[in-house]
Amino acid sequence: MTTLELKDTEIFDLIKQEEYRQKNKIRLIASENYVSRAVMEATGSVLTNKYSEGYPGKRYYEGQQFIDQVENVAIQRAKDLFGADHVNVQPYSGSPANLAVYLAFINPGDTILGMALPHGGHLTHGAKVSISGKYFNAESYSLDKETGLLNYDTILNKALACRPKILIAGHSAYPRILDFARFREIADACGALLMVDMAHFAGLVAGGAHPSPVPYADVITTTTHKSLRGPRGAMILCKQEYAQAIDKAVFPGLQGGPHNNTTAAIAVALKEASTDAFKLYAAQIVKNAKALAATLVSKGFNLVTGGTDNHLMLIDLTNKGVTGKIAAKALDAAGIVLNYNAVPYDTRKPFDPSGIRLGSAAVTSRGFQEEQMVQTGEWINAIISDPGNTALQAEVSAAVEKLCASFPAPGLEHLV
Ligand SMILES: *Cc1c(COP(=O)(O)O)cnc(C)c1O
Repeated sequence: MTTLELKDTEIFDLIKQEEYRQKNKIRLIASENYVSRAVMEATGSVLTNKYSEGYPGKRYYEGQQFIDQVENVAIQRAKDLFGADHVNVQPYSGSPANLAVYLAFINPGDTILGMALPHGGHLTHGAKVSISGKYFNAESYSLDKETGLLNYDTILNKALACRPKILIAGHSAYPRILDFARFREIADACGALLMVDMAHFAGLVAGGAHPSPVPYADVITTTTHKSLRGPRGAMILCKQEYAQAIDKAVFPGLQGGPHNNTTAAIAVALKEASTDAFKLYAAQIVKNAKALAATLVSKGFNLVTGGTDNHLMLIDLTNKGVTGKIAAKALDAAGIVLNYNAVPYDTRKPFDPSGIRLGSAAVTSRGFQEEQMVQTGEWINAIISDPGNTALQAEVSAAVEKLCASFPAPGLEHLV
C-alpha cells in the first residue's frame, strides 16, 4: 500500500480511477499529453517545500543552495533547446505568462492585436471575458472565410488601422504552420512588439517539426505541458534587451515564489525534448495527425483548412447534422476523448458549437502510429454517424480499451 492509500483513501481512489481512464482511453484533446515517470517524480518531489522568491543568486530567503542550481539548469536547457537569449521558467502557467508579458510592456488601455477567440486564438489574447480583454483595448484578426486560413494581408491592414503595441501570433486551434517572417514584417510595419504564444506547438518546435519563432519574435510564451510533454507550467523566452523587463514582470510584478518542483520537472522535460527520440516523436505527431485527417476527410468530414500541418485538427460537423457537444459526448462514451469547439464563423453558441477539436500529441506519446490513427478515424466516423447508438458506443469502447492495452502510456506502465 502507498502512504496516500493509507492516509486518504478517497483521493487515492479517485487518482487510481483517473490513471485507468488515461490508460484505457484514446485521448485526443489537443492540449493534453502524458508526461514521463521522471517528470512525474520531479513534480512530486520535496522541492515543493521550498520558498524561493527572486532569481538564482538574488533570493529573498536563505537555503537556496540546490534550488538555484535547479533553476539554472532549467534555464540553460531551455536556452540551448530553443536557441533563446533569455528564458524565465517561473510563470505558473500559460495564462500568467501572457499576463506577465503585457505587464512588462504595456499599460491598461493600450492596444493589443491577436487572433480572435472563435477563430482559434486563446482567451488571454484579448477575449472580452478575460483580463486581457478587460484591461487592454483588445483588437482581433480573423481567419479567411473561404479557406479557414490566416490571411496576412488582412492582418497587416488591421494592424495598420489599430496600431497595436503588441501583435500576438499563436493559437489553440489553428491546424497550420505560422509564417513568423510575415508576422515580423507586420509588427515592424505598425511599430508593435511581436509576441508569439507557442503553447500548443512548442514540442513541435523543440523537435524540429514546426518552424521556430525564436529568430523573429521579441517575446515568446509557452506552456510546458502540451506538446512539449512537461509538467503544468510555462516559460517566457525573449531577446536579451527584454530580459530585465520580463523578469521584473513575472516577479515581483505578478507572482510570488516559483513552484520549484515544477521548475525541476521542466528541466527534466527539456532534457527529454533535446534527444533524437524526441525529434522522432515530434515528426510522428505530425504524421499521425495527417493520417487521422486523411481518414476523416475520406469519410466526408469537413476539416477546417482541409487538413493539418501540425498536431491538431478542427472539424466542422454541420454537414453531418450533429453538434460538437453531441459528438464529443458520444465519443467519450465510446472511449475517445476530445472537446467540442467553435469553428470560424460559427453560428452556434460557444457552449454548444458546431465543431470538435482533435490532437495527436498524447496518443503519439503512447506509441500510436498511422495504422492506429486510421483505426481511430474509422471509430470516430462510426460513432458520429449514429450518435445515439449506445450499444455501438459500448462495443467501440471495449475495442479501444483492447487497442490501448498494446500501447502502454508513459507514466502508467505500472498498471496492468
Ligand atoms: C493553453 C494555452 C494557454 C494557457 O495555458 P494555461 O496553462 O491553461 O493557463 C495560453 N495560450 C495558448 C495559445 C494556449 O493554447
